[in-house]
Amino acid sequence: MNTSLDTLGQLRTFTEGLPLSDKMPVLFLGHGSPMNAIEDNIFVKAFQELGNSIPTPKAIICVSAHWFTNGTMVTAMDFPSTIHDFGGFPKELYEVQYNAKGERELAKTTKEILKPIEVKLDYDWGLDHGAWSVLKHLYPKADIPVIQLSIDYRKGPEYHFELAQKLKNLREKGVLIVGSGNIVHNLGLLDFPNLNKENYGFDWALESKNKINDWIIDGDLKSLIDYRNKGKAINLSIPTPEHFLPLIYALGLKQKSDSISIFNDQMVGGSISMTSLKIS
Ligand code: ZN
Repeated sequence: MNTSLDTLGQLRTFTEGLPLSDKMPVLFLGHGSPMNAIEDNIFVKAFQELGNSIPTPKAIICVSAHWFTNGTMVTAMDFPSTIHDFGGFPKELYEVQYNAKGERELAKTTKEILKPIEVKLDYDWGLDHGAWSVLKHLYPKADIPVIQLSIDYRKGPEYHFELAQKLKNLREKGVLIVGSGNIVHNLGLLDFPNLNKENYGFDWALESKNKINDWIIDGDLKSLIDYRNKGKAINLSIPTPEHFLPLIYALGLKQKSDSISIFNDQMVGGSISMTSLKIS
């Protein structure tokens, strides 16, 4: 069968009855500590308000910093399990279950759209805390199906930007695409004694946050994609790529007519920014 027709067919099946005018925003959410899943603070309040203010999606694709894989995968199970992929937190956090359904058809459609990139349908992962710790606040009833798309760790930012662009049309089909990471994220340098100090960031972290925010607002994709060659402060702020790349996915899905609003633009523990974006 003709592949592109097949893809269209799947898109049609998936989006049956959905008004085309409902173009979904794209989100990048700074998830920070897994504790945000069960805490009540300004960050989660903003996530709750966001969930209430945007059109209700038909399904969600989450690109989480915590699914960093050899190749690209998409979860395709009907009932993804809640993965507690962290250690040393209170029992209460391990008891959180986020029982959103999967969306097999959307997983297959995503695989088709991304061709010739080979995308593996995955039945083993589930929802990691990069996904559920934030989606829990946007959609507390867990009544929107969620699939995760992994980040191929062998590839650079430009590749991920281009991959994300291919998913653009899904926005018109009621699919909310969420990148979940942190723009400034250096756990090794986290200042634990000052974890609760409000909006507290090291000088290099603040410098990077401001610089990256400027690039985002100015639409300077070249600098964002070339972040590894932008000096010491940025290198300290993004020591590894996995928390930064979900931002590149969100920006890859931006269309010319979209504007970007930045929220939760605060530092935590010196070395993490909670900066989040709504692109709509
Ligand atoms: Zn994380």
